[in-house]
Amino acid sequence: MTKAASAAAKDLAAAGVGGVHLAWADNNGIPRSRIIPIAGLANAATRGVGVTSLFAVFDSHDAITFAHTGLATPSGDVRLVPVIERLRRLAGQPALAWAPGRQVAADGSPWPYCQRGVLERQVGLAAERGLEFKAGYELEFAVAPAGSPGIVGSPGHPGPAYSPHALVPLDGFVAALLHDFAANGLEIGQLHAEYGLAQIELSLPATDPVSAADDQLLARQTIHAAAHAHGLIVSFAPMVGLETAGNGWHLHTSVRRKGRNLLAGDGVPEGEGAAYLAGLLRDLPALTAVTAPSVPSTLRLRPGFFAGAYAFWGVENREAPLRYVPGTALLGDAHANVELKTSDASANPYLALAAVL
Ligand code: GLU
Ligand code: MG
Repeated sequence: MTKAASAAAKDLAAAGVGGVHLAWADNNGIPRSRIIPIAGLANAATRGVGVTSLFAVFDSHDAITFAHTGLATPSGDVRLVPVIERLRRLAGQPALAWAPGRQVAADGSPWPYCQRGVLERQVGLAAERGLEFKAGYELEFAVAPAGSPGIVGSPGHPGPAYSPHALVPLDGFVAALLHDFAANGLEIGQLHAEYGLAQIELSLPATDPVSAADDQLLARQTIHAAAHAHGLIVSFAPMVGLETAGNGWHLHTSVRRKGRNLLAGDGVPEGEGAAYLAGLLRDLPALTAVTAPSVPSTLRLRPGFFAGAYAFWGVENREAPLRYVPGTALLGDAHANVELKTSDASANPYLALAAVL
């Protein structure tokens, strides 16, 4: 690992990169990071860098919630170790690279509050049962000019929803998104002006669950940097105003056994695929608590906004929190999946997927 880290650091330094963001997401879905100079990457890959164990009890206002026995202490250290296989230069911030961090205990043993580690464990348990999951996020966000008081007072695009005209004033930003996502190794499925106020949506393709959560974090960083470069701010908040549609970060998943997509088919899922969907429906209240955990999340889950306000599933039903997408004759079996609509950006992407698995 150190060899790979040294080689990567050398290449990045030669390309003008000065430092690396070691990123993770806290339990509120808020990305956190430590920048390390590029010369320190190999050392960090072995020993990690220190962060307080209190991040396990940070709240969404950057305050610490002390009502947790064992965690409510300023003493203690967690080591944040970069995942070198996922290291990449940030196209929109060319002096910086980015890698997701793994949190381990000070002695190198697993740290139970590492969200990425929790998801890795779930993926491993699924594999022991012969199951392989694929996952992909859909990201909705609102745009406003930098320095403006908010989206409602100064929306960054005028609509109409789904119209190419809506995005004309954001042409440079859209171009940067397309360029920077590709350069950062992220594929965009599609991008459009959504129906919420100044809203944009882009989707990420399905991949293994841990990569899907890593990609979601990197996508956030990429979007913020592109917005800043074009005089904009973006909000991923579940609600940016009470009158408009919220921002959902819908989670598409499918599950395979021996390479066969268990959700495949052009009707309704059967057998183990049906059992997967039934399990999601049975546990929907708990899944909603983990995937839509903030106060604005609960405001977002209103009828009529395609956010999943009722507990049911449906075939291509956009009002359902569980939308089954069949593998039609045109799309093929590989495409079949179930979309969890409750999910939003105030969830930790790793924990959200771990709960679904
Ligand atoms: N904006 C809606 C939400 O809050 C979702 C709209 C859609 O893409 O179906 O989740
Ligand atoms: Mg949408």
